Amino acid sequence: MSFTEADSSVANSIYPTQNCTWSPGLNPIWVVLHTMETPEGDQIAENISSWFANPVAGTSAHYCVDPDSVVQCVDERACAWAAMQVGNAYGIHIEMAGRAAQTAAEWADSQSQAILARTAALTADICRRHNIPARYLTDQQLADGEKGITTHAQISRVFKQSDHTDPGEGFPSQQFLGLVQRALGAAAVQSVAQVVSEGEEMSKEILEAINLNLTRIVNLLSPGVPGQAGVRHATPAGAVFQRLDNISAQVQELKDAATPGRAGVKTQGSLDARLSSIEENQTTLINILTTIAEKKGL
Ligand SMILES: [Zn+2]
Repeated sequence: MSFTEADSSVANSIYPTQNCTWSPGLNPIWVVLHTMETPEGDQIAENISSWFANPVAGTSAHYCVDPDSVVQCVDERACAWAAMQVGNAYGIHIEMAGRAAQTAAEWADSQSQAILARTAALTADICRRHNIPARYLTDQQLADGEKGITTHAQISRVFKQSDHTDPGEGFPSQQFLGLVQRALGAAAVQSVAQVVSEGEEMSKEILEAINLNLTRIVNLLSPGVPGQAGVRHATPAGAVFQRLDNISAQVQELKDAATPGRAGVKTQGSLDARLSSIEENQTTLINILTTIAEKKGL
């Protein structure tokens, strides 16, 4: 089997290999970080993907990352051949250009940082789609099969099926996790913003309905109702106008809150609360109007 489309929107291209296992397929609970033990140039992901596509290589990973691209080599439903039996059965494997021997200073250079940024975006996307928490696992958690981010080195240490130590002790694990969490946070903020903007659309429709009702009420009350200009509280109608003023003010407040880009109340919950308090006022108003109509014998 093979695949024709990348699983991740972060991938720039695919370069499928037969060096993988479709049956039994992958049970993805880990994102596993590796280094390719190569230089960090822009063609490394393409070159290593081409090597993975060679049956002679007998090895593979789901993704190869270099400073300017992410290439997918193995479908996320299949097991890559990257970290022996246990690692292959449960991990989505990402190979970064670079070496396990890199120092922290070497990981800080611009090429490494570009690789880290792409790998973090890819890791965040995998975590989100497979419901894997963006956290590192302790050796015990890894042994217990908990979900999270790990490394080839940790899998080697815990399951003792290999002696690989990549991505190495100089790998900036805290910086990397921060980048992953920031990428996840940005995605979450985006989806909240979408919910709020959908809420704003709904609120606007309800506002239009309320405005229509208000217009009808005003038309019903005028002309001929005392107190419309000035003497607002001296007559029964004064209470009606007070109520109308309240509703108008609340509607304006709600409009302000529902205007995209305005500071202030921006959650669906608070929009809902404002709407329901307007509805309460409307109900009271209708009751008052009904009472007036009854008294007047209308
Ligand atoms: Zn490795």
